Amino acid sequence: MRTRTAIIGGGFSGAMLAARLAERGVASALIERTGEFGPGVAYSSQFDRHLLNVRSSRMSAVEGRPDDFVRWLKAHHRRHADADGFAPRRLYGSYVKDRLAAVEAAHPGLIERVTGEAAAIEASAVRLADGRGIEAGAVVLTTGNPAPNVAGPSGGTGRIIDDPWAPAALDRIGADDDVVILGSGLTMVDMVLWLQAQGWRGKATALSRRGLKPREHGVGHDAPVPPTPALTAGPLSARLAEGRRLAEQEGWRGVMEGLRPLTAGLWTSADSATRARFLRHLRPWWDVHRHRLPPAIALTIEALEAAGRLEILAGRIGRLDETGDGVALDWRPRDGARRPRLAGRWLIDCSGPGHDPAADPLIGPLIVSGRARLDALRLGLALDPSGRVLRADGAPDERLFVLGPPARGAFWETTAVPDIRSRIEDLATALAGASSG
Ligand SMILES: Cc1cc2nc3c(=O)[nH]c(=O)nc-3n(C[C@H](O)[C@H](O)[C@H](O)COP(=O)(O)OP(=O)(O)OC[C@H]3O[C@@H](n4cnc5c(N)ncnc54)[C@H](O)[C@@H]3O)c2cc1C
Repeated sequence: MRTRTAIIGGGFSGAMLAARLAERGVASALIERTGEFGPGVAYSSQFDRHLLNVRSSRMSAVEGRPDDFVRWLKAHHRRHADADGFAPRRLYGSYVKDRLAAVEAAHPGLIERVTGEAAAIEASAVRLADGRGIEAGAVVLTTGNPAPNVAGPSGGTGRIIDDPWAPAALDRIGADDDVVILGSGLTMVDMVLWLQAQGWRGKATALSRRGLKPREHGVGHDAPVPPTPALTAGPLSARLAEGRRLAEQEGWRGVMEGLRPLTAGLWTSADSATRARFLRHLRPWWDVHRHRLPPAIALTIEALEAAGRLEILAGRIGRLDETGDGVALDWRPRDGARRPRLAGRWLIDCSGPGHDPAADPLIGPLIVSGRARLDALRLGLALDPSGRVLRADGAPDERLFVLGPPARGAFWETTAVPDIRSRIEDLATALAGASSG
């Protein structure tokens, strides 16, 4: 008899895994705390200027059907059906919901939608916070990125917005309020765009370690530059020098595109010391070149900077105080100069995912009981090459898998749709085999 898989998290990863499993005859329970199945955090925004940061031609949710998303756009939103363009993320959320519903209709009874908060992973069930137990032969964690945790809990006067993706999170910000933003990446960009569209006239000061902001996409698809052996082997410093040389010669976007299909393999084959050096020295640079802005969005951000309404600073965060009518933040500029505290009416934490996987209420107990262990750099759970969780004794758990952003420690390149899509295929194969065994 085929056993059921419990999937914890009903965003893109969980919903599209459930769909693929159903197409292979495997039943699943898809557990999602919000009751909204498919869009997850990334594709829930209903704001039209929150665009995909990947061209539509790369955003098919189905491995082996590369034009699936563009065909869907042509059928439902012809105006946005440019394969080389960047569609609103809300449309992508609808696309994922449509695909899930279509698979459910074609394979009735194989996907059970469960609205609830998964609180514990037991031997043969997932326990929900309300006490319900969801029986399952295998469990896949597709819980997405943990919330940021730099600013800490918002106490005091409530002027620290620590989850910028929470519904209506920015609604309290007044039209003339100045804001301090922790982080200068894609989330910072999203928040500033949203404020601007509401008629906000204040100033935003964004602070990150290096003060880097995401680079922009080229006008059209960039042909991948084939990586040279010197780019993919040897000490990191030599690879970086080769990367710079190639970028100078062929263009940096093409170099990044050429590396894309190799990145997960390069990460998997690197030892811990190399991975740690990459994280310490290269990661900020990697991120801003890898996760790029659509050109129209980059123009808006440049215009805000030119008008003095957005300032991006490089430095370390110091003491943060809520001052009654705002916030004040000590910071240490990267150049060592003395600069005044940063002040604003609000602080928005856009510093990226939290970094203590052991503190996660689902994961922590697995580690304590030896059913799982963290990867050497504590980016997430240690996994084997097929995404199975490694127990404390190093043996893989045949029934427990991780997919999507929480698998970053094992695969690194596992947060964007093209990468998740191909991992879904591997996982569906493993789970289909296990469930019929
Ligand atoms: C703002 C933003 C924009 C992005 N834009 C793009 C893009 O344009 N292109 C691209 O390729 N990638 C993009 N990404 C990357 C994104 O990570 C992936 O594309 C994908 O959406 C990840 O989906 P997920 O299901 O793994 O995670 P999520 O979307 O975070 O979904 C996880 C789900 O799990 C649920 N959950 C968590 N814990 C529990 C629990 N204990 N019990 C029940 N439910 C739980 C959450 O409610 C959530 O719905 C973007 C990411 C973000 C944050």
